[in-house]
Order: sequence, then structure tokens, then C-alpha cells
Amino acid sequence: MTSISARPADPHHELRQYVRDFTQTYIAPQVGVMERDRQVEAELPRLIAAQGWIGATIDTAYGGMSAGHEAKTVIIEEISCVSPAMGAAVQASQLGVAKIVHFGTEEQKRYWLPQIAAGTCLPTIAVTEPGSGGHVLGMESTARRDGSHWILNGRKVFVGNSHIGDVHGVVVRTGEGNRGLTAFLVEAGRPGLTLTPHRLALGLHGFSFGELVMDNCRVPAENLIGEVGDGMAVAYSSSVLYGRANLTALALGIHQAIHDITIEFARDRRRYGSQLAELPTIRAKLGELRSRLLTARTTAYDAVRLLDAGYACDEELINAKHVNVELLKDSARTAMDIWAGAGLLTDNPIERYFRDAWHPYPAAGTGDIQLLRLGEIAAGVKHPQWSQRFPATRRATADQSVPV
Ligand SMILES: Cc1cc2nc3c(=O)[nH]c(=O)nc-3n(C[C@H](O)[C@H](O)[C@H](O)COP(=O)(O)OP(=O)(O)OC[C@H]3O[C@@H](n4cnc5c(N)ncnc54)[C@H](O)[C@@H]3O)c2cc1C
Repeated sequence: MTSISARPADPHHELRQYVRDFTQTYIAPQVGVMERDRQVEAELPRLIAAQGWIGATIDTAYGGMSAGHEAKTVIIEEISCVSPAMGAAVQASQLGVAKIVHFGTEEQKRYWLPQIAAGTCLPTIAVTEPGSGGHVLGMESTARRDGSHWILNGRKVFVGNSHIGDVHGVVVRTGEGNRGLTAFLVEAGRPGLTLTPHRLALGLHGFSFGELVMDNCRVPAENLIGEVGDGMAVAYSSSVLYGRANLTALALGIHQAIHDITIEFARDRRRYGSQLAELPTIRAKLGELRSRLLTARTTAYDAVRLLDAGYACDEELINAKHVNVELLKDSARTAMDIWAGAGLLTDNPIERYFRDAWHPYPAAGTGDIQLLRLGEIAAGVKHPQWSQRFPATRRATADQSVPV
């Protein structure tokens, strides 16, 4: 393999190697099974979580790794390189951590974070609705106060880890306008909360991003996250600080895999009496793959290093997600051109990565939304700077708390 991920200068070299070994041993053998069965994989995400990796950004005071967003990126990237479905599962739970870290009371942190860090509780975040999509303020699910409880009604779709999550962070409407959204923790199994059957998607087989239905679901008032009216801040801060970075890492892992398997293919395949890679057109395409991957990697790690170092970097996080997704889609197409007929055969891995490559685009905001936000920043439109409001509490140091 001509990998450009593992470099001696990589500050998380040991963590990367550990995750890579784990992935080869425990995840790689299950990829074919997940592709064949197309069921929700419930056991592997638990095994991954048991490594402590959902707690990458959770403070050691609550049992976490306190290793920062760069370490989280390494974990997601390495898993996604072998199994984008499991990369998606691990990032979805890490995303679910954000609301508790940012808005949880001390009591909520002490109750939930140690379980999450230990891997015994998988959190989610449920914002998207069938009728609103990226238009978060267009949501229609509601909560109304009823004594010491709130009663939730409505539907949430595309919830990452919908079918395996233990506690859902649900944002619903409690009033009008920007301050009319509120976030609640809703435990899986709570009466009034149901899941619709798993629907097959283009790719990421094994991962669930399905639908939650709330029908007079009673939730105690202590499950409120933040204040009444904080729901938009919960949704946006989770999406900018964790969602964008996590989807960037997912895209980067898929991109690395596409790059590696395509170079191997072009070297192994014989045409005109020599390697396919010797053809000038193929060599130019390999150059495109390499250039895009290098650019994607630089933007991805630059953004999370800034975040870990406590700098204002919302636009770098947004841009990294956009750049990584767009370059990945371009490389997926270039790779399919190189593989030609062989790329269409389902027992060749490029076919799976090509399908998986379309999934990071909508999550944490489509490309249109990223460009809209970047355009607003360029035009001077005022937005909260989430990376300043919630600066990393601890600067990550290399290979901190690596479980080796
Ligand atoms: C793998 C995956 C995981 C996900 N995980 C989660 C999760 O954990 N929790 C959760 O709540 N959601 C999750 N989502 C949902 C994701 O956030 C939504 O798909 C996303 O917000 C877009 O919504 P939509 O797909 O309904 O598209 P829409 O918002 O309906 O967009 C349709 C089209 O209109 C364009 N568009 C929309 N608004 C604008 C605008 N203002 N300006 C210009 N163009 C616009 C879009 O770019 C797109 O081309 C996930 C999605 C995927 C695919």
C-alpha cells in the first residue's frame, strides 16, 4: 500500500497503529458479512465502544480519554478506511457526546459521560425531520410541559445509530422562532418512543440511520439539556464542532481506502505488456487521486488541530467537511474510471467504497449548506463562533491515554 496517513511526524502515531490493528483483527473480517446480510450491526459498535473511543473528547474526570478532536479524527479515519459503516457508527455516537459535554449539568455529566466513555451507553443526536431536512428551524416535532414531565410528539429521520442507540438527544419545538427549540435526552425503550423498521440504503451496510417516532412520549424534566430555548444552539454547536469534523474524518477514511486499493489495482493489472499504472492517462489519474487526498488530509487535520488548540475555527471545520466530501466524490469517480469493468463487480472492494462515498454528503449539512455558511462568513453575517463559545477544555497531547 502507498499510504500517506501513517507518517513518523504523526503525533498520534501509536493511537493510529493501535486502531489500525484493532480494525484489521475485529472489523475487517465482518465487512463481508455486513455487506451480505444488510442488517443493522449491533455487536461491533459495542466492541469498538468498549475500547473507550466514544470518549475521545470526554474529560478524564468523567472517565474519558481527554485526547481531543485530532485523536477522534484518527479513530474515525482508520475505522472508516476498512469499514465506512463502522466509521459512521463510531462517529455518530461521538457526535452524541457533544450536547452533554457542552450543555449538560454537572449531574447529567456525572451520570452519562462515564457510561459513554466506558462504551456501555451509545448516545445519538436526533434533529432532522422528514419535512425540514437541513432547514432546522422548520422542524415540527413538539414538547409540552406536563407537571414534572414533558410530552414529546413527532418524527426524527436519518438519526445516526437510530437502531442501536441507548439515549437519543432529541431537539424539538417548544415555542416560536430561533429560541423556540429545546433539547431532551430520551432513553431508548421509553414508552411512546418507537423505531420504524430499518430501511436499506445505497451503502454503509451495517449502519443504521433510521427513524424515531415519538407518540406522547413522557420525559422527566431533568432530561432537559440546557435551558428551554437552547435547542438550536445544541443542534448547531454539535453539528459544527463534532458533526463537521466527524464527517470529514469519515470521508477521509473512505478517500484513503479508494486511493490505496486503486493504486494497488493499477500496479497489479497488466495491459500492453506492463502495469496499467504505466499508461500516461492512468498515471495522470493516480496523480489526481494523490493530489486530492493530500489536500483533503491537510484541511481535515488543520481544522481539528486548531479546534484542539482553542482557536476560533468554525469556518475551517465547515470548509474541511466541504472539501473532504467534494474531493472524495471526485476521487470515487476517477477510481471507477481506472477500475473500468472490474469496478462494477460486487466482489471488488471499489464498488462498496464507491457506494459508501455518497453518504457523507448530506450528513452535518449538504455542500449547499456549507457554502451558504462560508458565504455568510465572507459577507460578514454574524454567527455564533461555536469553537470560541465551547473551546477545547484540554489541549490534546500526543498519544494521551492510548489504551495499549
Ligand atoms: C449518513 C448520514 C448520517 C446522518 N446522521 C444524522 C444524525 O445523527 N442526526 C440527525 O439529526 N440527522 C442526521 N442526518 C441527516 C442529515 O443531517 C440530513 O440529511 C441533512 O440535514 C440534509 O437534509 P435532507 O437530506 O432532508 O436534504 P434537504 O435539506 O431537504 O436538501 C435537499 C436539497 O436542497 C438543498 N438545500 C437545502 N437547503 C438549502 C439552502 N438553504 N440553500 C441551498 N440549497 C439548499 C440541499 O443542498 C439538497 O441539495 C444524517 C444523514 C446521513 C446521510
